[in-house]
Amino acid sequence: MGRYFNLAELYIAANAFFSAEKIAHRHFGIDWKNAKELKYDVRTMAQLKAHEVQEGAFAHLCRYEYERGHFYRVCLQDSLILDAVGRAKSFIKLPALLLYIAAHELVHVIRFSRGEADFEAPEEEKRREEERVHIITRNVLQPCMNADLKLVIDCFSNRYQIC
Ligand SMILES: [Zn+2]
Repeated sequence: MGRYFNLAELYIAANAFFSAEKIAHRHFGIDWKNAKELKYDVRTMAQLKAHEVQEGAFAHLCRYEYERGHFYRVCLQDSLILDAVGRAKSFIKLPALLLYIAAHELVHVIRFSRGEADFEAPEEEKRREEERVHIITRNVLQPCMNADLKLVIDCFSNRYQIC
């Protein structure tokens, strides 16, 4: 049985997505009008359905059909994220790790929504897209780079998996 975010950790996660949204929108030149076209939400483990839980990645991106197109759900895997922070003890800070995860998932959502990447791509292409997303995420985060974030990027970006 995995661990769930407590209230303080849920607050940190919400904050991370709020910040990541701001910097990702600035990076991609998205204004309030086309931001509405990005259809996604963020869920933590307590809210996930069985198929949205996935071992092996910090977050799992699901896509659903709705009447006007596609809708994305970022499914945060609380226990893996908390394990990574716990294992790394004082090195990896939860706010920095969650900011990285948020920016990374938003880059996926933006690229899928704009047709710059294919959600249904074969494995080989998904791997290449994952590499592109790593590089783009690093660039997106550049304006708020600090020691904690750099450590996260150095430690985890190569082990992050697309789902
Ligand atoms: Zn990814």
